Amino acid sequence: MSDPRLAELSHRLPDLRLLTAAGDLEHYGRDWTRRWTPAPLAIALPTSADEVQTIVRWANEQQVSIVPSGGRTGLSGGAVAANGELVLSLERMNRVLDFDAVDRTLTVQAGIILQTVHEAARSHGLIYPVDFAARGSCSIGGNIATNAGGIRVIRYGNTREWIVGLKVVAGNGELLELNRGLIKNSSGYDFRQLMIGAEGTLGIVVEATLKLTDPPPPSQVMLLALLDMDALMQVFALFRARLTLQAFEFFTDRALEHVLAHGAQRAIDGDYPYYVVAEFDAADEAAQDAALAAFEHALEQGWVSDGVIAQSEAQAAALWRLREGITESLASQRPYKNDVSVRISAVPAFLHEMQALLAREYPQIEVIWFGHIGDGNLHINVLRPDDLAEETFIAQCEHVTKLLAATLQRHGGSISAEHGIGLVKRDYLESTRSAAEIALMRGVRKVFDPNGILNPGKLFADD
Ligand code: FAD
Repeated sequence: MSDPRLAELSHRLPDLRLLTAAGDLEHYGRDWTRRWTPAPLAIALPTSADEVQTIVRWANEQQVSIVPSGGRTGLSGGAVAANGELVLSLERMNRVLDFDAVDRTLTVQAGIILQTVHEAARSHGLIYPVDFAARGSCSIGGNIATNAGGIRVIRYGNTREWIVGLKVVAGNGELLELNRGLIKNSSGYDFRQLMIGAEGTLGIVVEATLKLTDPPPPSQVMLLALLDMDALMQVFALFRARLTLQAFEFFTDRALEHVLAHGAQRAIDGDYPYYVVAEFDAADEAAQDAALAAFEHALEQGWVSDGVIAQSEAQAAALWRLREGITESLASQRPYKNDVSVRISAVPAFLHEMQALLAREYPQIEVIWFGHIGDGNLHINVLRPDDLAEETFIAQCEHVTKLLAATLQRHGGSISAEHGIGLVKRDYLESTRSAAEIALMRGVRKVFDPNGILNPGKLFADD
């Protein structure tokens, strides 16, 4: 190791895997945003909480910043290392440590992949219900750090609901054991919840105890085509009142064009501007009849123009692909992303204002909307035209994001629903959090990470 700081780290942890080859720096220094040029000092791949603790202590002494890194599927630039940071990848800490049948909990190392958690839960006849398209690559540590949401929030809530214990190495090097799997614990501040959604700015999650639950009853998946955006929330209200929803997801015709171009199969003939994928409990004939009746009512009211119900698991998967394939189908074009939320009751008014704003500000630019509309969460992806320089495009998108942030503020919404703040949204934090809240957030950060070595610049631009 030619860098004396790295030589010192190797001296303290002779067995620690440290990577410095250009390809590794590039690979581990970026996330899905692909907007910043990776330039980390090195990549550390610890295998234990003790090693993580030693690295954090070393970083404090050597004044080296650390970027905690999971699957790097993040969409907010939270795991980007572009300023000589040490990337601390949890990928070798990926084991299931314990299953407790009485508590119905699974204890895992933070680098475990979400899909592996799903498989482990299922092997015990239970489920871990947080789920989304990046399941095959994202890590539990990253899910916790972003309080990940996904397609089942409407039924099960965000990651926050499912974490009953955490082991975290705080920025000051202390190993904290938080909540220890307790269901009830009214003994003061709940630091576990503070760590969830902190984007690695307070501590590095090394271990998590996850609550599991019973699998839902058999379900059905329906694809609906709509002509009118106003009908979207009417259908949602109808379905929520009459069915037990597991998911209610929305996308536009433009999003559909991209997934179809990526190999998905068209399920409804004809051109419609809006689509919904709904999944709901359908254990018996009565539940299936109720779903059909709700669909027919929506047709009669003119809210829905067409629809299909999957008749097999393969068909259900094909319908889901139309929604879940969107992010991947756009990835090669590196879209500028917004991930916003408002209260469900504010969705109709917000959608109208947002539609007018986007039409006015992006007249020649392709904008693709989709998202978890049943949670009041929309993803807005903006694609750069070939003839527009990257810098001009980003400047334009940032201008529109400011306007969008002001619209959100009027509706009491959030500039980041589930992706986190990161490099992408740090300049807009004030639109969602008050000055008093931000001052307290800075104070909290100082307590856990006094030297500001953990993920600097990912929440506050100036730290
Ligand atoms: P990374 O990208 O590696 O990191 C994310 C943040 O967490 C960074 O700030 C990083 O520093 C921090 N971090 C990582 N590990 C730790 C740790 N152990 N301790 C402390 N901090 C840590 N997100 C949703 O919420 N809902 C969706 O529906 C959704 N769909 C997606 C679909 C696709 C196709 C893709 C590519 C992404 C999607 N995402 C979604 C975004 C992303 O998958 C989530 O944000 C996920 O939680 C990130 O996990 P990760 O392991 O990849 O984290």
